[in-house]
Amino acid sequence: MRFADLHLHTFFSDGTFTPEELVLYAQKNSLACIALTDHDTVEGCERAAKACAAVKMEFIPGAELTAEMDDTEVHILGYFLDTQNAVLLEKIAKFQAVRQSRIHEMVAALNRLGVPLKVEAVFALANCKSPGRPHVARALVKERLIGNLDEAFEKYLKRGRPAWVPKAKMSALESVELIHQAGGLAVMAHPGLNRSDEIIPGLVDAGLDGIECFHSKHSTSTSERYLEIADKYRLLVTGGSDCHGFSKNKPLIGSVRLPYEHVQELQAKVAERKAAAGR
Ligand SMILES: [Zn+2]
Ligand SMILES: [Zn+2]
Repeated sequence: MRFADLHLHTFFSDGTFTPEELVLYAQKNSLACIALTDHDTVEGCERAAKACAAVKMEFIPGAELTAEMDDTEVHILGYFLDTQNAVLLEKIAKFQAVRQSRIHEMVAALNRLGVPLKVEAVFALANCKSPGRPHVARALVKERLIGNLDEAFEKYLKRGRPAWVPKAKMSALESVELIHQAGGLAVMAHPGLNRSDEIIPGLVDAGLDGIECFHSKHSTSTSERYLEIADKYRLLVTGGSDCHGFSKNKPLIGSVRLPYEHVQELQAKVAERKAAAGR
């Protein structure tokens, strides 16, 4: 049996691995195929593709876009993206700018609370175009302004806490269109974490192609529920670990093993769409 892990992050967003390290761990886990899905960026894809090619592993260029639908945050995974697509790159650059100004706002809020974190410390640590809350949390720990990451979120950064800043997002419809025009497939990420199944029919109407039934934070019964929903709406089934590097002594990569037949179904859909567009 061949397996894939289709939800992975590197240091091009809030993961800690380089693309090469990620591929090394994919190899250790005997994966046949991986997809890179960094938040609001495709920057790591070129290096990951190269590293995969060197070890004859299949690679799918992707991204995880932050979107919203009916005031609910939803993450939309894009697969088989043309990472040179001008519209995609332009839109992504805008969202990266929004992410950077959000870091400034969060640090300003911390400063108002008397926490002397410098915004430069966060950007130096993040060292990427898609900085986010985890980078602020890591900087707080590194500067010894808080004991650990959980505490940073609990005390300051979680929704509703004093240094939480809402994130400007694109609409889910816009993100699905953006992915489609870049030749990709749009997949709803970790629906079990959202607990907002009521938005699924709207996403399907917007052109959603698939749903991430298997995820490291989905229980077996959660996965089963989304397999049923995938069946009901004729959505493709995907799965991935959502590995961000080491967590509790070992990386999550490979903890979700998606049977390769699902990758073949994704490929068939991309080919079908390409053929229809060329007609
Ligand atoms: Zn996500
Ligand atoms: Zn993710």
